Amino acid sequence: MSKDQKEDCIFCQIVNGKIPVDLVYESDDLIAFPDINPKAPVHIVIIPKRHIDPNEDISGTDYPMTGDVLKAAKNIASKKGVAESGFRLLANVGADAGQEIDHLHFHLLGGRRLGDLG
Ligand code: AMP
Ligand code: ZN
Repeated sequence: MSKDQKEDCIFCQIVNGKIPVDLVYESDDLIAFPDINPKAPVHIVIIPKRHIDPNEDISGTDYPMTGDVLKAAKNIASKKGVAESGFRLLANVGADAGQEIDHLHFHLLGGRRLGDLG
């Protein structure tokens, strides 16, 4: 476990390969894999390899990575066939958003008409 990771974090264990996933995308800073409990026909989770708690420590050095998320999303949407039909990219941060895992992550949802936010 490197200093960039947190021992008891499920997503860090995915990054380390302890929990196997089907990788949909990988870059220097990010990986993406299918959500285990999909809310749409296409539901992919995009995460930084480094453990970043979105409630605490997104810092200046992390901003290039967040830009890379948009690039990853376009790439994944094309691979999964939803680039034309459309998709939603969102992050749950904090209790009111229902955030369950404290490792920054983005949900890419598509493949059906998505309802209003809220
Ligand atoms: P959030 O509610 O935004 O914190 O989302 C956490 C997401 O991680 C949920 O949609 C879970 O279904 C998903 N998840 C939890 N464990 C795994 C796993 N082992 N592999 C893939 N997705 C997972
Ligand atoms: Zn983590």
